[in-house]
Amino acid sequence: MASAILPGSTIGVLGGGQLGRMFAMAARRLGYRVHTLAPDHDTPTGQIADVEINASYDDLDAVARFAQNVDVVTFEFENVSAAAAAAAEAHAIVRPNGRSLEIAQHRIREKTFIAALGVPVTPFAAIRSDADLAAAIRSIGTPSILKTASFGYDGKGQIAVRDRSQAAAAWDALGRREAILEAFVDLDREISVIAARGADRSWSAFMPFENVHRNHILDITSSPAAVAPIMVTQAVDATHAVMDALEYVGVLCIEFFVTRDGRVLVNEIAPRPHNSGHLTFDACRTSQFEQQVRAVCGLPLGSPELLQPAAMANLLGDLWQDGEPDWAAALARPEVKLHLYGKTSARPGRKMGHLTALAETTADARQQVLSARDLLYSKHVARAQP
Ligand code: AMP
Repeated sequence: MASAILPGSTIGVLGGGQLGRMFAMAARRLGYRVHTLAPDHDTPTGQIADVEINASYDDLDAVARFAQNVDVVTFEFENVSAAAAAAAEAHAIVRPNGRSLEIAQHRIREKTFIAALGVPVTPFAAIRSDADLAAAIRSIGTPSILKTASFGYDGKGQIAVRDRSQAAAAWDALGRREAILEAFVDLDREISVIAARGADRSWSAFMPFENVHRNHILDITSSPAAVAPIMVTQAVDATHAVMDALEYVGVLCIEFFVTRDGRVLVNEIAPRPHNSGHLTFDACRTSQFEQQVRAVCGLPLGSPELLQPAAMANLLGDLWQDGEPDWAAALARPEVKLHLYGKTSARPGRKMGHLTALAETTADARQQVLSARDLLYSKHVARAQP
């Protein structure tokens, strides 16, 4: 504990979204000061932080100045360039390390790294040329999914390839950028493991979360996940192995595909807290955000114990299209918690907030968040005229 960064110190967060916001809430509750750097003003994180710096992640001077003024730097957004991570590392402790970001932000590097550890991943092939694409279609087959190697999230930069005649057009549509072709997996369900690793190699995982996506965006998470104990062990052990190999310090999430024939395959890594862990705020002894504060500051990790079965439903910008949602209707439900991220413009597909419910069973919790979300959709309140 000699090198711990104690409450009263300042944590810098690169990124300004909701993950940084909930991280900042946890940090401030523990008595830390928070600085954030993002390209926008009045960000979800900036609204909670002590100091909001408005700069591009590629402005290396700004990143260096930002790092000089804090005791430790962490991320809520992983698509920060290696140069920006290095600029921060020159002036402050950076957790997780830049190498972890570099691997997680590039699908070819990520899957190659994980497969080399002996951890099963979705079958894939790297595409950098027409010859690669032709060979990948032969080896992976169809149906498959073509994904850009970098800057893809929430289904962006992905195209389904139903038969081989569509492959060339799919790659053209992705701008012929470096990509991977992935086998289309026959999914039973999707789960994620969120875990924390301290600088002293201490390690702690939340129970796996079960995730349902809609239009490639996370829609519903529940915990505990309804999977066999052997699958829990495989997913948790794989997460531990990946974090050890990265010498990771902080919170990380791995999304897994559980196939109908019983395999547990890594889909992707997020080197930060994750949307599927939002329910930990209300349902666990320690939230994923507090766990990230503890890990990056070198404090003992907290208990990840799930206090009650829980479910989370995302609230996307689409919810606002007919007016302001009826918040009072959801808030009137004692088992439901409302979280809003302070975003002023509600674009379709944009993550604006979420609902969490705790109940006796996971099925009940899921039913509670779904019915509370239906109330928001069904009773829009007319917007006040400007
Ligand atoms: P990703 O951005 O790679 O996490 O993909 C978003 C979602 O698309 C996943 O959570 C799955 O629901 C679906 N998906 C992506 N890749 C595959 C695949 N290889 N096989 C089946 N479904 C997939």
